[in-house]
Amino acid sequence: MIEKTTNIGIYWIRSDLRLHDNIALWEAAKSNKEIIIIYIKNLTTGPSKIIGAANLWIDKSLLELSYQYEKLFKLNLNIYDEDYISIFKALHKETNFTDLYINNTYDPEVDKIDKSIKKEFSNLFNVNSYNSSLLFKPNEILNNSGSFFKVYTPFWKNALNKLNLREPLPIPKINFIYKKDISSVKKSEINNQSKMWEKKTLSHFKPGEISARKMLGQIVIKIIDYSKDRDFPIKNNTSQLSPYLARGELSVNEIFYAIKKDKKKVNINDYAKFIAQLGWREFSYNILYNFPKLPHKNFNSKFDNFPWDKNDIKLSFWKKGLTGYPIVDAGMRELWATGYMHNRLRMIVASFLIKNLNISWVEGAKWFWENLFDADIANNSAGWQWVAGCGTDAAPYFRIFNPTLQSIRFDKDGEYIRKWIPELKDLPNKFIHSPWELTEMELISFNIKLGKDYPCPIVDHKTTRDEALRNYKEMNVSK
Ligand SMILES: Cc1cc2nc3c(=O)[nH]c(=O)nc-3n(C[C@H](O)[C@H](O)[C@H](O)COP(=O)(O)OP(=O)(O)OC[C@H]3O[C@@H](n4cnc5c(N)ncnc54)[C@H](O)[C@@H]3O)c2cc1C
Repeated sequence: MIEKTTNIGIYWIRSDLRLHDNIALWEAAKSNKEIIIIYIKNLTTGPSKIIGAANLWIDKSLLELSYQYEKLFKLNLNIYDEDYISIFKALHKETNFTDLYINNTYDPEVDKIDKSIKKEFSNLFNVNSYNSSLLFKPNEILNNSGSFFKVYTPFWKNALNKLNLREPLPIPKINFIYKKDISSVKKSEINNQSKMWEKKTLSHFKPGEISARKMLGQIVIKIIDYSKDRDFPIKNNTSQLSPYLARGELSVNEIFYAIKKDKKKVNINDYAKFIAQLGWREFSYNILYNFPKLPHKNFNSKFDNFPWDKNDIKLSFWKKGLTGYPIVDAGMRELWATGYMHNRLRMIVASFLIKNLNISWVEGAKWFWENLFDADIANNSAGWQWVAGCGTDAAPYFRIFNPTLQSIRFDKDGEYIRKWIPELKDLPNKFIHSPWELTEMELISFNIKLGKDYPCPIVDHKTTRDEALRNYKEMNVSK
C-alpha cells in the first residue's frame, strides 16, 4: 500500500459511462477521499480503438454524464486526449493522489494499459480495480480440468449455478471533491463528431444513462414473446440494450436483476431465452480473455491459410447494401441508417460476406466495428468468428445460410425488406425475396428494372456455396 500523503483519489471512467451500479465509482466515493473524475479519449490504438459510430455515442454520453456530475455533485468531469502515462504523471505531480479507481473492461488492450500503469506507478498510487461489467470475471467459470469453456451450453449451465446477483448500487453520495480545475480539454469539445453519425443517433437511439434507464424500465414489456419472435426483425421485440451495455451505461447485473425481480411477469421461456443471450455476452468475454487475439486471429488456426478473395468491389457492394439479395441489402442498409442491426440479419449478412463473397470475416468485423453503436470487441469478434466457423463453438463450416430461404423464413411478408429497400416495395411477397426470378416484363409491371433500380445479384448463391464448401473441405478446417 502507498503511504498516505494526501486524501485524494481518481475515478477513471472507461467503458462504464454511468452513475448507477458502478462499483469503482461507489468505492471511490465511499473512501471519503477528495474525488477527481477523468476520462481519456483515444486510449487504445489497436483493434479496440473507438472509431465511427461508437465514438459519437461516447461523446454524447459523456456530455450527459458531465452535466449529471455537475448537477448532482458540482463535480467537473475532466476529459483528456493524451498519452495515459503522461496524464497520470502530470495528475500525480499536481495533486499527489494516492488511489486510482477503475472498473476492468476486459478488453485485452486496456488490460495491458492497466498492467503498465500498475507497474509504472507502483510506488506512487494504488490501483483499485473491480468487475462491474460482467456477471462473472472472464476467468471465473472453468471446466473440471481448470480450463476455460469453449462450448457455450456447458459454460452457461455452469455459470448459472454459480450466479450470485448483487442488489444494484444506487448513485453514491460523493462528499468530497477535489476543487481545483485540472481539465485540459474543455467540455464544449466533447461533442465534436460529424453530422453523418449525428443523424443516425437522433433518429433511432438516444445515447446516455438516462435513456438507458428508461429502456430498462420497459424491459419486461419489450421482451414479451422474445423466445418466439426474437428472430423476426420486423417484430422489434429484442431489448436493443446492446449499445448501452457496450458503453456501460447499464450494468448487466442491473439488467439481470430487473428481469429476475419481475420474473412473475415474464413468461419462463422468454426469461430463459433472454438471459441466455446475456450469457452469450459473458461467453464472448470468456473467449476474448483466454484468446486475446480474437479480434484479428482465427481461434481455429486451420483457417489461417484460407484462400480469401481480396475483392474491394464486392466488399463495397456489400457495405452499401447493393448485393442484389434483398434481405442482405436490407440488413446492411439498416446498419448504415441506424447504427444497429438485428441479430438475425447480422448472421445473414456475415454468412453472405464470408461464404458467398469469400471475403475474410476480418473485413466484415471492421465494417461492423466502425458502424455499430454497440460495437463491442468481444461480441463482435466472437460473432464474426462464430459465423465464419473458425471460432469456439462456432457454426459448422458447412452451415451456409441461403439468403433467400432465410428471408422467406424470417421476413415472410417482406415487411423488413420494404422498410429498408423502398424501391422493391411494389413487388408481391412471393418475389420480394428473389426479384431475379421474375421476367423483365413482370418486373416492369412492378416498377422495377433490375440492374437500374435495384442491382442484379452480384454472385449466384448455389455456385458460391459450392465453392465455399470445396474450399472448406480442401483446407480441412473441420475440427
Ligand atoms: C457477426 C456478428 C457481430 C456482432 N457484433 C456485436 C457487437 O459488436 N456488439 C454486440 O453487443 N453484439 C454483437 N453481436 C451480437 C448480437 O447480434 C447483438 O448483441 C444483438 O443483436 C443486440 O441487440 P439487442 O440488444 O436487442 O439483443 P437482445 O436479443 O435483446 O439481447 C440482450 C443482450 O444480450 C447480448 N447478446 C445478445 N445476443 C448476443 C450474441 N449473439 N453474442 C453476444 N452477446 C449477445 C447483448 O449484449 C444484448 O444487448 C454480433 C453478432 C453477430 C452474428
